[in-house]
This record gives sequence, structure tokens and C-alpha cells, in this order.
Amino acid sequence: MAKARALAALRGRTEPVPCVVAGRDVWTDAVRYQPSPFNHAHKVAKFCYADKALIEEAIAAALAARADWDLKPVADRAQIFLKAAELLSGPRRAEVLAKTMVGQGKTVIQAEIDAAAELVDFFRFNAQYALELEGTQPLSADASTNTLVYRGLEGFVAAVSPFNFTAIGGNLAGAPALMGNVVLWKPSDAAVLASYAVYRVLLEAGLPPGVIQFVPADGPVFGDTVTASEHLCGINFTGSVPTFKRLWKQVAENLDRYRNFPRLAGECGGKNFHLVHSSADVGSVVNGTLRSAFEYGGQKCSACSRLYAPDSLWPQIKAKLLEEHGKIKVGDPTQDFGTFFSAVIDDKAFARIKRWLEHARTSANLTVLAGGGCDDSVGYFVEPCIVESSDPRDPIMKEEIFGPILAVYVYPERRFHDVLELIDTTTPYGLTGAVFAREKSAIEEARKRLRNAAGNFYINDKSTGAVVAQQPFGGSRISGTNDKPGGPHYLLRWTSPQAVKETHEPLPDWRYSYMQ
Ligand code: NAD
Repeated sequence: MAKARALAALRGRTEPVPCVVAGRDVWTDAVRYQPSPFNHAHKVAKFCYADKALIEEAIAAALAARADWDLKPVADRAQIFLKAAELLSGPRRAEVLAKTMVGQGKTVIQAEIDAAAELVDFFRFNAQYALELEGTQPLSADASTNTLVYRGLEGFVAAVSPFNFTAIGGNLAGAPALMGNVVLWKPSDAAVLASYAVYRVLLEAGLPPGVIQFVPADGPVFGDTVTASEHLCGINFTGSVPTFKRLWKQVAENLDRYRNFPRLAGECGGKNFHLVHSSADVGSVVNGTLRSAFEYGGQKCSACSRLYAPDSLWPQIKAKLLEEHGKIKVGDPTQDFGTFFSAVIDDKAFARIKRWLEHARTSANLTVLAGGGCDDSVGYFVEPCIVESSDPRDPIMKEEIFGPILAVYVYPERRFHDVLELIDTTTPYGLTGAVFAREKSAIEEARKRLRNAAGNFYINDKSTGAVVAQQPFGGSRISGTNDKPGGPHYLLRWTSPQAVKETHEPLPDWRYSYMQ
């Protein structure tokens, strides 16, 4: 009921979203709009880009807010995030869900697991982890007491978030702030509406102005400005590999300016695999793969986009995949709750995915088994597409597509060992992957041989759906720095501990007793 009301409240509405700098709402002339992916005529938010001068003003305001915030006891800071979690799970839940559905094109379940469940979990578990960390203290000897003081980093943190998870934006800005840092949060243009709602919740929960500032901006203008500041002490990024590499290079170029070595945390893309062994349960393979590859239109960093199936099982898998594929509904998730996924995020994504569909249709290596139609007249709709590749190293098996396209390679059953090598070496990514098998020895072999191929590895389960505190998330290789948001270690990235030794007895002499 509450969700239906919240959705109705957004119908036809364009919400103004300002920049928030030093506690003030600010508008610049660079006005932009966020369209709804499934109905692009509906502009869900009107916002503006912070320019270089405004970003610099935000940096100054952040630095002014830093000392008081950092000195606040962690329990007090945690209280604000716990309060925000309470608001998000209760009175503000329907609003943030509806904004995630309409603004980012999510179905009700996808909005729920993101903007309610994951975000609330991030705030609550991080608060718990921060308090536990405070309790992790060094040994003290008889005459002295040793303490670790978990300080925030000295400077400001730039949090740069992607479009695809409302929760990620909240966590990228929220986790460093919880640890005593001040943060400039640059949301994605395509997620401004829900990001701003989360920001308002944090303010309502008692976050002081200046601790997190909300600065939508042109990506490169933001990146250039923050990396040029001597006070940059961290970048908390989630998004694509090229953007993260650009930021890292800029930091390297500016290294001589900085007062600290900035901490760089980046969670990037993936080319995630499902590996099927001949002993696998076909139902789990098909259902898990359809969910992983097509939920949210394949726009999860963990989405399965390459399936390796043994020739012995492929006829069964293929028949079932195609049968179920025919039942998938793509459409407006606010009108029909039977919709499995909605439109892709924007015109750029639509054009990119269309190029991949064209490649699938025209390449001699590839056969389109199902789907692949697309239509952007009302929203950016792409049908789920399944493509079989006779070449395991075709670009469709290697590159991140970030759309509803599943590529399949059928391998000879007896070449299971070789296919492990193939999976490990086909792409430079290392985010998520799954093995489906009932034979224990096959699982063990896959675990060993694919140890470096995935930061999140699943056995008889799909490659998506990591839960905070259960499967801390992230990958290595070019998928990112693997700092595992959703786990306790993540917070260590956002603190610069100071070790303090206090001696309780006076020192009576400078000479050692053996010297006399
Ligand atoms: P993107 O790289 O296009 O944008 C991410 C953010 O960076 C946006 O806010 C964007 O405006 C900003 N940006 C762009 N250029 C910039 C610059 N020069 N300096 C500073 N900021 C800049 O990514 P996206 O399309 O929003 O997100 C999709 C990507 O994110 C995919 O590759 C996906 O796999 C990845 N992703 C990874 C994870 C993970 O946990 N590993 C989670 C979600 C998304």
C-alpha cells in the first residue's frame, strides 16, 4: 500500500534536486534532468552540476567540519547511521524504493533488496563493525597503557557512485563518514533522485552539515577538481574500469601535492561466469542463470554474462533456458508487478547494447538463440538475449556488456580441466563466478583453479545477490581493489589509527643499571 502510494506520488512529477554545500541548497546554471529509463518522457529529477568553484567551496566546508566530526566518539557517529537505518526501514522506505524503481528502472524486488535491505544493512553492520573495531586494542604492559585511536583520514574523501545501486551510493559516502571522515558525494546523473532521498534521510538522522556534501557534477570536472586538491585523502569509487583508472592516474600525477597518500578504493566491472559441470542440477543452472544474467537487465556488476556448459548437458539446459526465456516479461515495473526486468538505464547504455546485438547478429562465431529485439521509443527496452559462441575468445565472452545479453560457450564434457584454464584467462576481470556441480571433486578442482578468477565465488548458486555481512563483496584483477564493502575489514580503509603509549611512572635516571 505504502509503495503504491509512493509510486503514485511520483507519477508525472519532476523533483528539484539542488547541490548541498556547507548546509545550503545551491543551484548553478548547468541544469540537467534525470529521465525514467522505462518512460524517458518523464523527467524524474531536475538537478544541476556543481562547477569547479562550487566543488572547491565544498572542499573548504568539508575541511572546516572535519575536526569536530572526527573528535566525536564513534558511538555518537554510529547512532546517526543507526537512526538513518531506522528511517529507511520504516517511514522513508516506500519513498526511497519508489524513487529507485522510477529513477533507475528497478522492479519492486530489485528496489527492495537494494534501497531498503542492502542500504539498511550497510548502515547497521558498519555501525556495529566500527564499534567492534574501537574495541580492538593493543596489549598494555605494567607501567604503561597503549591505545589505538581510530582517527578519520586527514583531509576529505571523494565518494563517486554508480547508477545501479542506491545502496552503494549511501555506503560509499556513509562508511568513510562513520569513521570520522568528511566526504564530498558525487552521485551518478542517472541515480540523482534516490541518492538525494538517501542524503536527506542522513540529514534528518542528525548528520551535521558539511560532513557529507551532495555535489552532482560532470564526472571529469569533479574528478579533475578533487584530485587537484592537496587535501584529497581518499577516493571511494564504484563504477567502470576506465573511470577508476583515470582517477588513479590523476592521483599519481598529483602525488607531490598531497599532504597524505590518498587511499584509493575502487569496485569496478566484471565478466562473470557460470561454469556447469556434467554432474550439475539443470534446474539450478537454468533458474540461477536467468536470474543472474537478466535481473535488472544485466546491469549488476556481478551479473552472469558468460555460461560454460558441457556438451552432454547442453541440449537439456538449452531447451529449458529457451522455454523459460519465453516467459520473461520486460516492461514498466510500476504498472505490472509480473515484469521481470525493465528498461536499461539510458540512451548511452541502449546504444552500447545495440552495438553488441549487432555484433551477435553479424559475427560468424555467434548464433542468437533467443531475444535481442530493442525499442527506445518510450523507454530504453532491450529483450533478454541468449547468444551461443563457437569461439570462446570472441569479444562477447571477454568484455563487460552491462546489459541483458548472456553468451554461452559449449565445451566438450571431457575438457573440464581445460575449460577452467579458459575461464581463468579469457578476461582481465575477477569479480564473481559460480560453479554448478554435484561431484565434489569437480567443485574442489574449480575452487583451486579459479581461486584468482573471482572475488566472490559461488558453488551451486548464481553469481549475483551478495548480502552484507554474509558475502562481503568485491573482486580483484581489474575488477577493483577488493576492499570488501559489507564486511568488517572495509572500515580499516577509512581510518588512520594513531597508537598512543602513556607511561604511568616517572623515569628516575637516564643510565641503565648495568652501566654502574
Ligand atoms: P561510470 O564509471 O560511468 O560512472 C561511475 C561514476 O563515476 C558516476 O558518478 C560518473 O559520473 C563518475 N565519473 C565519470 N567520469 C568521471 C571522472 N573522470 N572523474 C570522476 N568521476 C567520474 O559507471 P556507471 O555506468 O555508473 O556504473 C556501471 C559500472 O560500475 C559497471 O562497470 C559496473 O560493473 C560497475 N559496478 C561495480 C560494482 C562493484 O561493486 N564492483 C558495483 C556496481 C557497479
